[in-house]
Amino acid sequence: MSYLKNQDREIYDAIANETNRQSTKLELIASENFTSEAVMEAAGGVMTNKYAEGYPGKRYYGGCEFVDVAEDIARDRLKQIFGCEHANVQPHSGSQANMAAYFTVLKPGDKVMGLDLSHGGHLTHGHPINFSGILYKFEGYQVDKKTEVIDYDKLIAQAKEYKPKMIVAGASAYPRFWDFDKIREACDACGAYMMVDIAHIAGLVAAGLHPSPVGVADFVTSTTHKTLRGPRGGVVMCKEQYAADLDRTVMPGLQGGPLMHIIAAKAVAFKEAMTDEFKNYQKQVVTNAKALADALASKGHKLVAGGTDTHLMLVSFIDVPKVTGKKVEKALDLAGITVNKNTVPFDPEKPFVTSGIRIGTPAVTTRGMKEPEMEKIADFIDRAIANRRKEEELEKIAVEVSQLCENFPLYKERMESV
Ligand code: PLP
Repeated sequence: MSYLKNQDREIYDAIANETNRQSTKLELIASENFTSEAVMEAAGGVMTNKYAEGYPGKRYYGGCEFVDVAEDIARDRLKQIFGCEHANVQPHSGSQANMAAYFTVLKPGDKVMGLDLSHGGHLTHGHPINFSGILYKFEGYQVDKKTEVIDYDKLIAQAKEYKPKMIVAGASAYPRFWDFDKIREACDACGAYMMVDIAHIAGLVAAGLHPSPVGVADFVTSTTHKTLRGPRGGVVMCKEQYAADLDRTVMPGLQGGPLMHIIAAKAVAFKEAMTDEFKNYQKQVVTNAKALADALASKGHKLVAGGTDTHLMLVSFIDVPKVTGKKVEKALDLAGITVNKNTVPFDPEKPFVTSGIRIGTPAVTTRGMKEPEMEKIADFIDRAIANRRKEEELEKIAVEVSQLCENFPLYKERMESV
């Protein structure tokens, strides 16, 4: 990054420090991952300079012949991976992908159902402070209090009673498999559209490790930067019957010029997602999550829904006096481990405090870590929670964490940082 270093030292230093943070700490945020160098090259390339409002072959700007190639390839690869009828790769983010699906078939004031945020849903699934909750009349569905798994019979009954125009499935913090056929049953019981947001599980779905909603749902949305391991962005997949309306909704409805460099990078990530190496990676993500969950449970920690089928787990401190997600997040941070505090079902604490943490294995698995390392990580987490008030102990763990990270190098070159 010699140009950046010479021209803008402040930003260069911030990037250098971030590079070294990523390299030396344990990244356990379930929604994060490390893309390949090839993805970053495309994302950092010259396509950032190009305006390309419209779609391949139908642009409002000249000179689009090469960005058209990138977008066509991205769409085709996405269709191939998920077997969907139509794909739009232009949404700048997962939130915009969800907005695009909603705007395609809903009108302000329509009734919608989504999983409550505190039960694992996302802000864009109807939270009152989000555009979704402001524009539509969302009613939340929840997990069962005892099993902490979605009670589909209850959901179907709720759908018959509330009669929403759409039911949204998918989550940010739900560790178990979704039963998409049951969601379809709920939609059919009240004539609702079905939308599934697979932002978190997209990589698992691509690898055949989680049931796919494609073909079952009317709309499937996703981010591209979580388990799918692409650049930061969004996509929408839908049945052919909605294709023209969806495309019009994304552009000119919601966005202007697409981020062509990011679309090129999405295409690169989609090519990677079609390889055996990617499938093996996703298998290891799930194996690691189970290993970490089992190791934490064996040390006495309570896992929401009793464990995980996916890449993530939630550790609940709801029954542990004086321990909150906020305190644990801070202690782990001092120990060199990055997680996020997270509400757990029926959480008495506020969202800024919470009674849980969310842990995911996609990023550490990209570094090459396997089951033995998950044992070590469980031990670090357990010790950090027990020693959360003892800074010296946390610093000792941080040294061990950085030694572990050194054995699994992330970037080929370290940047010179301040
Ligand atoms: N949907 C789900 C299920 C998510 O977990 C997230 C992000 O965490 C989003 C949508 C939003 O994605 P973005 O942050 O790209 O807007």
